[in-house]
Amino acid sequence: MATLYIVATPIGNLDDFSPRAVEVLKSVSYIACEDTRSSGILLKEYGIDTPTFSFHQHNEHQKVDYLVQLLDANQPVALISDAGMPGISDPGFLAVREAYQYGHKVTVIPGPDAATTAVVASGLPCDRYVYEGFLPHKKGRQKRLKQLSAEERTIIFYESPYRVIKLLEELNEHFDPGQWAAVCRELTKKFEEVVRGSLSELLTEFESRDELKGEFVIVVAPKGYDE
Ligand code: SAM
Repeated sequence: MATLYIVATPIGNLDDFSPRAVEVLKSVSYIACEDTRSSGILLKEYGIDTPTFSFHQHNEHQKVDYLVQLLDANQPVALISDAGMPGISDPGFLAVREAYQYGHKVTVIPGPDAATTAVVASGLPCDRYVYEGFLPHKKGRQKRLKQLSAEERTIIFYESPYRVIKLLEELNEHFDPGQWAAVCRELTKKFEEVVRGSLSELLTEFESRDELKGEFVIVVAPKGYDE
């Protein structure tokens, strides 16, 4: 039996990389990386010279067998994604499930993730929340939004800068435009920003901007929440 380590990496600020994460990445036999090139920069920065192999959404179904073979051969493996917590809108789930299925141990080295950072930063209720991540681009998107409009917990969405306006428009359509929400941008980075307001105010604000850059999380307060 060997251990699969799921290791969180920074979502922007390198100082959020924990000493325990670095120690584990130095100690394992291999590191499975979502992108070996971008992780290579981080690993080099921390003097981690452990061999890496790629493990991303397009090859994880093939590579998971290799990962289990390594564990079977008593070689501890760590899995990292480009940023944040593996498994959260990133590869991770499959590796964890298979590792358990083949009798190995799984240890998570926790660290930053954009969802919990955003829900806390939003100042909206965070006692009960639901993580939606990225909505499907086409099929099922409108149905999902309709279902979510009845949600009684705070909702967390991930979105790319190219679709933030579209998502805010759709939220205004399906939800109450007066519903409280927050747009959290570039968390932990130099240009970190949290803009709070009603869904309609947020749409007006972000539509008025020349260009939307960076990484975004949109947090929507439960129906009927008011300040
Ligand atoms: N595994 C990551 C995590 O733990 O949050 C998420 C990876 S997912 C592929 C990338 C998305 O996460 C981005 O499109 C954005 O929605 C969100 N994200 C990641 N870093 C962020 C940051 N620093 N600020 C705001 N959102 C971020």
